[in-house]
Amino acid sequence: MTTKLLQFVNQKREMPKKRGSSLRLKDFDEIYKNFNKLEAKKQAGRCSQCGVPFCQVHCPLQNNIPDWLKLAAENRLEEAYEVAQSTNNFPEICGSICPQDRLCEGNCVIEKGFESVTIGRVEKHITDTAWKSGWIKPLIPPKEINKSIGIIGSGPAGLAAAEQLRKKGYKVEIYDRYDRPGGLLIYGIPNFKLEKYAVQRRTKILKESGIVFHNNFEVGKTKSFDFLKKKHDALLIATGVYKAKGLDFSEENLTGIVSALDFLITNNKKGLGDNVPEFDNGKLNSINKNVVVIGGGDTAMDCVRTAVRQNAKSVTCLYRRNRENMPGSMREVFHAEEEGINFSWLSLPTKFKGVNSHVDIDVAEVALGKPDASGRMIPKILLNKTHTLKADLIIKALGFNPENIPKMFNEPKLKVTNWGTLKIDHNTMMSSKAGVFAAGDIVRGASLVVWAIKDGRDAAESIHKYLIKC
Ligand code: FAD
Ligand code: SF4
Ligand code: SF4
Repeated sequence: MTTKLLQFVNQKREMPKKRGSSLRLKDFDEIYKNFNKLEAKKQAGRCSQCGVPFCQVHCPLQNNIPDWLKLAAENRLEEAYEVAQSTNNFPEICGSICPQDRLCEGNCVIEKGFESVTIGRVEKHITDTAWKSGWIKPLIPPKEINKSIGIIGSGPAGLAAAEQLRKKGYKVEIYDRYDRPGGLLIYGIPNFKLEKYAVQRRTKILKESGIVFHNNFEVGKTKSFDFLKKKHDALLIATGVYKAKGLDFSEENLTGIVSALDFLITNNKKGLGDNVPEFDNGKLNSINKNVVVIGGGDTAMDCVRTAVRQNAKSVTCLYRRNRENMPGSMREVFHAEEEGINFSWLSLPTKFKGVNSHVDIDVAEVALGKPDASGRMIPKILLNKTHTLKADLIIKALGFNPENIPKMFNEPKLKVTNWGTLKIDHNTMMSSKAGVFAAGDIVRGASLVVWAIKDGRDAAESIHKYLIKC
């Protein structure tokens, strides 16, 4: 068979076709179409099969990218899927939502001069083909092991750990306070980035593999942490980070100021067909409103793009630095710009003011000063340069902190770091309590899906090592 590789000189980098912005604003569907077989083959064939593949080095899962690109270029998609899934539990999800420009693709060597290989979307094509072709089946462990693991949190960290442990034959039960598994994959990330069926088909197959899901089960309320500790041979805490960061001035109990996650969760629930009173009564929707989103990260981009799809009257994003210094993915900023969002750079909110049913917001203009310890330039307020923005809904998208886990679980012996994340031994992923492990955002702070998967996999391996010694 001829191997069609090293085609980067003749074949241009292409992404799958993107729906035009006027069309995509009409719904919440994914904005990209999928590659067809030929398009994926051509894009995979651009890879130059580097001896030291920097793409792989910069993928948190160390995916064997050159191998599955080669197999895809040769139309050997079933083998490509075997390779892709051996290091990644959810390759199609990462292929859609990893910020590839900062990870694999941003480090592809042919980026210099010829533009990187479209790694993420080929990964998605391979795995979507695996789903369509029936290659993805429930797990049948080689033997059943009479030990059980309780996992608190069904986000990507919890799900990846569950799958890895079930593969080995352990009994696995997952507890989540929400009514559906998936964590932020279901309730945080909007449908136009990741369609929900992609998460639901994964959780369905995990159920069919024998993993038990307890939804609407809030550890610390429904049952105590201690109850689970006694029930299982080991526990994994994968509860994510959910406490919204605030501004350093008062909200004065004004209505019309909401947190990003409340806004996004409500919208996702509505999209899933739920009855959502906060949406229907107007508290948590942006229909026909002047919306101001504060923040410049990926969550802020998800909010502005959700608001514009909900038919807001206007949507403004306030960010205290400039475009070049935004913390999120440039790809997402570009999509937001295409969708008509108004960006107000170098703008710092200083006060909220209640005016009848509106909340107006005083904004100071800033200039960027010297870099701080992290290298990011510090915004400095310019005197006498303020204005007031009229808003009906203000969405705070300033990042997240962890909840107080020792308090939530009534377990003062669980140690936390200065940032409130759970303290673990990074060699074993065990917390300060024997037999209790932790993974994902609750250890790293707000991060990425691909890192949560990596942590979940590492925690599963550590739990296995711990249990075979017990
Ligand atoms: P989570 O996904 O947060 O899951 C934790 C689960 O624990 C939740 O289901 C929660 O209900 C449950 N839980 C918490 N406390 C309890 C309790 N006491 N009892 C029972 N269950 C509990 N990353 C990307 O890579 N790409 C993106 O495009 C992207 N977009 C994002 C958009 C938004 C709006 C947000 C907020 C995040 C985004 N992220 C993105 C980050 C990514 O979603 C997270 O890093 C990832 O989901 C963390 O996984 P996790 O499993 O640690 O936690
Ligand atoms: Fe790239 Fe993410 Fe896939 Fe790794 S998991 S290859 S970083 S898209
Ligand atoms: Fe292929 Fe780029 Fe990875 Fe090299 S760095 S192996 S060209 S994808």
